[in-house]
Amino acid sequence: MKNTEARQEVSVSQGFRVMFYMMKPSETSFQTLEEVPDYVKKATPFFISLMLLELVVSWIHKGKPPGHLDDALTSVSAGVLSRLPGLFFRSVELTSYIYIWENYRLFNLPWDSPWTWSLTFLGVDFGYYWFHRMAHEVNIMWAGHQTHHSSEDYNLSTALRQSVLQIYTSWIFYSPLALFIPPSVYAVHLQFNLLYQFWIHTEVINYLGPLELILNTPSHHRVHHGTFEAENEKVVYGLTHPINTFEPIKLQFHHLFYIWTTFWATPGFFNKFSVIFKGPGWGPGKPRLGLSEEIPEVTGKEVPFSSRASQLLKIYTVVQFALMLAFYEETFADAAVLSPVTLLLRVWFIILTLTSIGFLLDQRPQAAIMETLRCLTFLMLYRFGHLKPLVPSLSSAFEIVFSICIAFWGVRSMKQLTSGPWK
Ligand SMILES: [Zn+2]
Ligand SMILES: [Zn+2]
Repeated sequence: MKNTEARQEVSVSQGFRVMFYMMKPSETSFQTLEEVPDYVKKATPFFISLMLLELVVSWIHKGKPPGHLDDALTSVSAGVLSRLPGLFFRSVELTSYIYIWENYRLFNLPWDSPWTWSLTFLGVDFGYYWFHRMAHEVNIMWAGHQTHHSSEDYNLSTALRQSVLQIYTSWIFYSPLALFIPPSVYAVHLQFNLLYQFWIHTEVINYLGPLELILNTPSHHRVHHGTFEAENEKVVYGLTHPINTFEPIKLQFHHLFYIWTTFWATPGFFNKFSVIFKGPGWGPGKPRLGLSEEIPEVTGKEVPFSSRASQLLKIYTVVQFALMLAFYEETFADAAVLSPVTLLLRVWFIILTLTSIGFLLDQRPQAAIMETLRCLTFLMLYRFGHLKPLVPSLSSAFEIVFSICIAFWGVRSMKQLTSGPWK
């Protein structure tokens, strides 16, 4: 288990300021990696508060919410999924960095110097720039990054739509820093760089005047998520080939499967190599990044993919999602003291919940069966003490509600199995 005892606390003021990179070197320099706070873990209340604020501001200014419920749920799902491996391992971005630092470092810059801090700020930003650029130009890297671009809305929840796969290629771009910057300084900026990107995913902030020249702003990033021009017209967001699903596993891995099938279907060794390392739009005989005329034209009349589920079913998914989120938070808080079996079972329950919600929103034929199994799993984990009652006094009420859910979805499953497509 990771040592969490030496970790420094994060104050409310720091938790807020870190969302905008407004941190001083003196308060965020640490000698050892163990002391570096998990700023990302502490960010959940700020994510939620800012999303609620965005909702209110959008309602007042535009008379409508900043996006769609199904899209936002899917984005937060991706955020949850991308964090789950962190319960078991230190991330590849840190492990590889520490390895290089311990074996190949050339200098040892002082961890407590503001110069080291500022150099790392620039270094991580530079590494991110090249990683991000390559993530759009190299097919195998795009397999991870496409998840983030798959939202057809643009709001703060879109920022949380993170890829599970991305860190397996991004670490390469930060590794040169390990030749001279201590891991504890790098670990701080890696988190700040990620958190800064939250607030720029919004339509409620327009232009920021001179700041547009020096910072990555909401306006810049809106254009990055959509039609590739200066922001003169309404931006249409999403992938050029929409995947039209709310199913989180598919959202994460579908492009990897696409590369796999294209790889085998493309003749010739060099062509196969190009399928992996050239642009997502490449094909035999085409330039490295594909042909621009093959990109579907954006008419401005694109309709975002939306769930056909009833309002009642959507409310049901939100309630189940919120419940899962409470268990998710608790699991991260207690990770160091939970048994490996409990940890695995909880992660399994979280993945099952996200998948089932995706199935319900997609109105898949197997949705009722999936949801029955999920509710059954919940009840079992609860009974055997792998999930702690959130409100102990309501423990039996919880069990009754979930038993009703099992009965309800069980009946639906039976109907489904005997009478064809589920309505
Ligand atoms: Zn991008
Ligand atoms: Zn983005």
